[in-house]
Amino acid sequence: MFITFEGIEGCGKSTQAKLLYEELLNRGKRVILTREPGGTPSAEELREFILREREEFFPPFSELLLYIAARGFHVENLIMSALKEGIVVICDRFSDSTVAYQGYGRGIDPKFIREIDIRATGGLRPDITFLIDLPVKEALKRIRSRERDRIESEELEFHERVRRGFIEIAKSEPERVVVLDGRRGIGEIFKEVIRKLEERGAI
Ligand code: ADP
Repeated sequence: MFITFEGIEGCGKSTQAKLLYEELLNRGKRVILTREPGGTPSAEELREFILREREEFFPPFSELLLYIAARGFHVENLIMSALKEGIVVICDRFSDSTVAYQGYGRGIDPKFIREIDIRATGGLRPDITFLIDLPVKEALKRIRSRERDRIESEELEFHERVRRGFIEIAKSEPERVVVLDGRRGIGEIFKEVIRKLEERGAI
């Protein structure tokens, strides 16, 4: 079972991913919690490179390739082997983020992104994806006090495009992507996560 959480910065992804991880551990499941970009030592090195603020212009195509490169390390060295052993994998962001950010956010053709993404994932898709949707202003308010990385510091309109991108993805794959209203309380959202997973017999 491969479960991903998606959404704009500050929507509450990591909070829900961590709650689910703890819940599954309590239920005696074998489970790992991981994140993108990152998840393995090499991919975390790439994460640091990608997210660090820099003087030089970061070309969108270079950014895309680095995210894809990091995903390759992550899928090959961690996710696939865990799934093969029957371990539940919970991942904070995955391919949908690349389509939303580098596609809808930066303007690279989403279809092209899916094509090169398959080279890194070998076609691996999450069994279920939770998209936590929240107005950009509310999400950014939540992370006001946190130190912003290069992507989090982007202008409001960039995050609006990314949010719309996620919604488009959810519309195109309604069986896989469950949209959650992120304006609700943490506990209420989490109850829905559990309910959806139980309904599908996933946990
Ligand atoms: P993300 O991983 O999507 O960037 P986080 O899970 O780190 O977001 O949450 C960002 C901030 O918002 C944290 O301080 C977290 O405690 C808070 N938060 C998360 N979910 C909610 C919620 N449903 N309502 C209010 N605050 C929340």
